[in-house]
Amino acid sequence: MAAVKSYHYFADNGWHEPASRTWFDSFNPTTGEVWAYIPRCNAEDIDRAVQAAHAAFDPWRRLLPSARGNVVRKLGDALIDHAESLGAIETRDNGKKTVDITPALKTWLADSFYYYAGLCDKLEGSVIPVDAPGILNYTKHEPFGAVACITAWNSPLLVAIWKIAPALAAGNTVVIKPSEHASASMLALMEAFQETDLPTGVLNVVTGFGEETGEPLISHPLIRLVSFTGGVAGGSAVAMAASRQVKPVIMELGGKSPQIVLGDADLNLAANGIATGIFPPAGQTCIAGSRLLVQRELHDKLVDIVCNIVRPARLGHPENADTQIGPIANEPHFRRILEHIKEAKDEGARLVLGGNAVQPDSAPNGWFIEPTIFTDVTPDMRLAREEVFGPVLAVVPFDSEEDAIRIANDSKFGLAAGVWTRDSARGIRMAERIAAGTVYINNYFNATTQSPVGGYKQSGYGRENGIEGMKAFLQTKSVWLATEPNQPNPFA
Ligand code: NDP
Repeated sequence: MAAVKSYHYFADNGWHEPASRTWFDSFNPTTGEVWAYIPRCNAEDIDRAVQAAHAAFDPWRRLLPSARGNVVRKLGDALIDHAESLGAIETRDNGKKTVDITPALKTWLADSFYYYAGLCDKLEGSVIPVDAPGILNYTKHEPFGAVACITAWNSPLLVAIWKIAPALAAGNTVVIKPSEHASASMLALMEAFQETDLPTGVLNVVTGFGEETGEPLISHPLIRLVSFTGGVAGGSAVAMAASRQVKPVIMELGGKSPQIVLGDADLNLAANGIATGIFPPAGQTCIAGSRLLVQRELHDKLVDIVCNIVRPARLGHPENADTQIGPIANEPHFRRILEHIKEAKDEGARLVLGGNAVQPDSAPNGWFIEPTIFTDVTPDMRLAREEVFGPVLAVVPFDSEEDAIRIANDSKFGLAAGVWTRDSARGIRMAERIAAGTVYINNYFNATTQSPVGGYKQSGYGRENGIEGMKAFLQTKSVWLATEPNQPNPFA
C-alpha cells in the first residue's frame, strides 16, 4: 500500500495545518483504503481564509479587466498542464474514470476559464433613458467581494471550476470548501494554480465538514455571497444560514429527471440516450435521467432494448481504459443506494436488471453497484420521487402526452428532462410545458460552458455556465449624474 498523503489547507498564499491539528481520512472507493488525510478546518482557519480573500478583493477588482482576464486564462493553461495528475487524483479519491476525467479537464473544463477570461472586458452596463431631465443614468456590473463556494463530491473539479472561473473573472475573491468526501483534487488544483500569477488571497481552499467548516464560512460577516452545489437538505441549511445576514445564494441542487419516450420516438436512439443519461457515471450526476417515462405500448420493447444495451457494461477499476462504469464514490453513499434498492423492492417495484453490489475482478474491494432497472414503478413510490444519485432507473408508463407532462412535473425537482420523438414541433411543445431548467430533445447529457444550467423548484435557483453564470457573481449599480443644476432647495 502506498504511503498516505497528508494535505494542508490553502489560505493567504500559504499552506497551513488546521488550527484543530486534526485531519480526517479520505478513502479510495476502488480499494476501500484510506489514501489521504484532509485537514479538519474550524472557524479560526475560516477566518484566516476569509480575511485573506477580503484583503485581496479591492486590488483584484481594480485590475484592468483585460489583465484580470489574462490571469484567469492562465488558470486554464495550468489546468491543462496538470490534467494528468489532477485526473489521477479524481480517480483515486472519487472513482472517476481516468479516460473521462483527464480529457474533460483538458478541454471543456479548461474552456470554462478561457470563456470567462474572455468575458472580463465584455459585460457592459447601459445608459438608461430615464424620465429625469438633466440626468445621465448608467448601470455597471460590480463584483460582490469575498464569496464562498461550497461543493459536492460527485464531480469535485467540475463543480468547483463552474464556480471559480466566473466568480474570479467577475472580480470576486473566493474561499472554497469542497466536500469532505472529495477534497484532494481541489487542493491539488490550488497547487497547480500557484504556478500562475494569481495574486495572494484571491483563491483560498478550506476543507472539513458541512456544519463545522461550511457553516462558519457562510456565516462569516465578510462573505458577501454563497454559491452552493449539493443536496436539498444541505442547500436548505446553507440558504437559511446565509439568510440570517441577507446574503445572496446560488443553489445547484439535485434532481429526479424524467426521460420521456413518446410513441413516435426512434427507440434505439432513445435507448442509447437513456442508458447514457444515467449509467456511465453510476448515476452520480445531478442531471441523471433517473425516471424513464414511456408510452405504455412501447414499454416492454423499450425496456428490453435498454436492458440489452446496459447488461454487458463493464464495471471495474476506474484507471483501466476498458472500464465503462466505475465505483460509487464513497461508502456511506454506496450503502444508501443499496437501501433505496431494497426499499423499491419492498414497495412492489419489479427488478428487471441488476440490483446488487458487485466485486469486479479488477477492484474486488471497491464499492460497486450493478446498473439497476425497476419497472412497475408508480409515480407515488419513493423510487419515483426521491433522488437516488446512483445507477437505478425507475420505469413509469404513461398513456398520453398530457399524462407524460403531468407525471414529469409531479416532482419537487426540476433540474433536467429528456424528450424522445421524431416530431420536433412536438418536442418543443413538450419542452415548453416541462418544469425543468434544461430540456434535451433527442439527446441527453450535453453541457458546454456557453449554455446556462440550473434548476427549477427544489433543484435550485441561479444559473451556472454561460453569460448568466458570470452575472450571478455580479450586482448592478445604477449611477445618476446631474448634467445641469438639478437639486432644488426642498423648502424654498
Ligand atoms: P451535500 O448537500 O451533502 O453536500 C454538499 C456540500 O455542502 C458539501 O461540501 C457539504 O459538506 C456541505 N454542507 C452540507 N451541509 C452543510 C451545512 N449545513 N452548512 C454548510 N455546508 C454544508 O451534497 P453531496 O455532497 O452529497 O452531493 C450530492 C448532491 O449534489 C446531489 O443531490 C446532487 O444532485 C447534487 N449536485 C447538484 C449539481 C447541480 O449542478 N445541480 C451538480 C452536482 C451535484 P461535507 O460533505 O463536506 O460535510
